[in-house]
Amino acid sequence: MARDRAFFIGLGRGLARRCPNCGAGALFSGFLTVQPVCPACGNENSRYPSDDVPPYVTILLVGHLVLGPALIFGFIETWTVAASLSILLPAIAILTLVLLPFVKGGVIGAEWSLDITRGTGSF
Ligand SMILES: [Zn+2]
Repeated sequence: MARDRAFFIGLGRGLARRCPNCGAGALFSGFLTVQPVCPACGNENSRYPSDDVPPYVTILLVGHLVLGPALIFGFIETWTVAASLSILLPAIAILTLVLLPFVKGGVIGAEWSLDITRGTGSF
């Protein structure tokens, strides 16, 4: 059986915050609100449950992007606690809010390619 839903196509379209089915319609109607039906192709995007996966992946990414360099390059050892918190906490908050919609789109795109919908089990 030939697959007509390539994983990286769905992932890429989702990361671009586009409908994974057509790549033309917007996936979100708000910051993280999925449009139930794609305005371009009519695909029912609300049936792909992203649930807690996007926050987990975002936490993993932000942890590696912010705290990893801080530990590797020793910022935390030389900065005061106040300086570390005043720089790292806003960086973590901003990066989390920036990455979360893209990660959620990527998760939905991956679910589209793997045909994971509500009621089919995991994710
Ligand atoms: Zn579409």
